[in-house]
Amino acid sequence: MTTAVVIGAGLGGLALAIRLQSAGVATTIVEARDQPGGCAGFRRRDGYTFDTGPTAITDPDAFAALWALSGQEMAADVTLDPVSPCRFNWPDGTNIDLGGDDASVRAEIGKLDRADIAGYTRLLDHAARARREFGDNAFADLGAMARAAPLLTKYQAWRPVYSIVSRFVRNEKLRQALSFHALLAGGNPMTASAIHAPWLPPGALWSVRGGTNRLVAAMAALFGRLGGTIRLGDAAVRIETLGDRVTAVETASGWRADCAMLAANSDAVHSYRDLLTGSAAARRGAERLARRRYSPSLFVLHFGIRGTWPGIPHHMVLFGPRYREQLADIYDHGILSPDFPIALAHPSITDPSLAPEGCSTFQALVPVPHLGRFPEDWGRIAPIMERRVLDEIGRRLIPDVHGRIETRFSLAPADFAHDLHAHLGSVFGPEPLPMQSGWFRVHNRDDAIANLYFVGAATHPGAGLPGVMSSARATADLMLGRG
Ligand SMILES: Cc1cc2nc3c(=O)[nH]c(=O)nc-3n(C[C@H](O)[C@H](O)[C@H](O)COP(=O)(O)OP(=O)(O)OC[C@H]3O[C@@H](n4cnc5c(N)ncnc54)[C@H](O)[C@@H]3O)c2cc1C
Repeated sequence: MTTAVVIGAGLGGLALAIRLQSAGVATTIVEARDQPGGCAGFRRRDGYTFDTGPTAITDPDAFAALWALSGQEMAADVTLDPVSPCRFNWPDGTNIDLGGDDASVRAEIGKLDRADIAGYTRLLDHAARARREFGDNAFADLGAMARAAPLLTKYQAWRPVYSIVSRFVRNEKLRQALSFHALLAGGNPMTASAIHAPWLPPGALWSVRGGTNRLVAAMAALFGRLGGTIRLGDAAVRIETLGDRVTAVETASGWRADCAMLAANSDAVHSYRDLLTGSAAARRGAERLARRRYSPSLFVLHFGIRGTWPGIPHHMVLFGPRYREQLADIYDHGILSPDFPIALAHPSITDPSLAPEGCSTFQALVPVPHLGRFPEDWGRIAPIMERRVLDEIGRRLIPDVHGRIETRFSLAPADFAHDLHAHLGSVFGPEPLPMQSGWFRVHNRDDAIANLYFVGAATHPGAGLPGVMSSARATADLMLGRG
């Protein structure tokens, strides 16, 4: 029987392992942390459940497909609740809710500019057609990129997300609302290539009952039922190679396994530089990768408070007074400016079981420069940022928020670098620029080491759950000889 090892139980690693195991490949996942999920981790504190990573599911079908491979139903294991619309808020008090039913979205857009209603509909149509036509192309070689040229041209996929959105709508606030989500996949809306799926504007959103951690647990359980093995809390420390092939993997506990194929869901720089130490080709790969531009990182504040807030929806974006300039501070200048945007999730509004009775749980996510651009001591800065984020939420939503806090903790770039081995603390991998997209991104199959594969945010199409799930499909096809 063919054997495969997947390093890392992030959502990309789990999805790939389920696909391999469903196809009859005996697959083992080795995961450094004591829980699966990678970015999609969780913590329980003082009666609250906090998802420490993604809270919004935009493509449930990509997950359901994993169950369908073995004739099972995701609905038997996971319950998804619709949580649209997402509210966008500006310091001048403007609110618009997008992602709900057609009539309400038209009414919301009409509040800003009636002329943009038709443009918004055309943008959605453009995005849906592009998504369908691009499919899951892994851009495994330059030829695939050349064959896709007519499509890339048709959809002007090299243009930045903000620029594409601006072709369809003219109101500046609407342009911000419809391009912001690129940030949640690591891209600067002003420069992120539209070849990455994230340029699609926010449509319907779902959350997982009990938190995203329940989806992760259900994926791990599905993998187990199929006969796969997960080794938690046992980091890979060495990938052995002979000539142009991987032969075995070794972990911190001393466990060692021969394998016919190996896929790294672990950060690509970490994998090439720290794990493939015996390969000259990998050393060159690490040097090439380290020269790329990396996506920013995140500062994430989790807090539980006394009181319930029926007026605050599941998802909000609180924009600051600047957009383009603020993005340049994060991506180009490495400045932690005080007028940052906040993506605010309020999961207990949909699922009260996530907080003690009469209490609420929140996740406030702020894009910040990565450690290469802002190499400061986050141990000193995190408490300052926590206070600033709460001050802003106090000004805009919950006036006495400081006095209501029952529990809180934050995660900063240094935590992502330490906990996930994320290069420069960037949780999104190389920045999705035109020359770092498609075939120019980390390849799903290594060029020099024939049975070495990559899956997850660093590969095409990039970070974010839809991108990572698509990457797992593309890598599985290559590993199963279907690519
Ligand atoms: C706070 C936050 C909020 C987000 N919100 C959203 C959202 O709402 N919607 C959305 O679509 N996307 C969101 N994202 C992005 C999305 O979560 C990520 O792009 C995606 O989960 C990345 O998955 P991955 O499989 O590429 O890798 P990762 O999640 O990075 O997993 C990699 C795994 O490899 C393991 N590993 C590393 N080195 C080793 C080693 N040597 N040995 C063994 N294991 C190793 C790590 O421990 C980790 O488990 C968010 C990200 C963050 C951080």
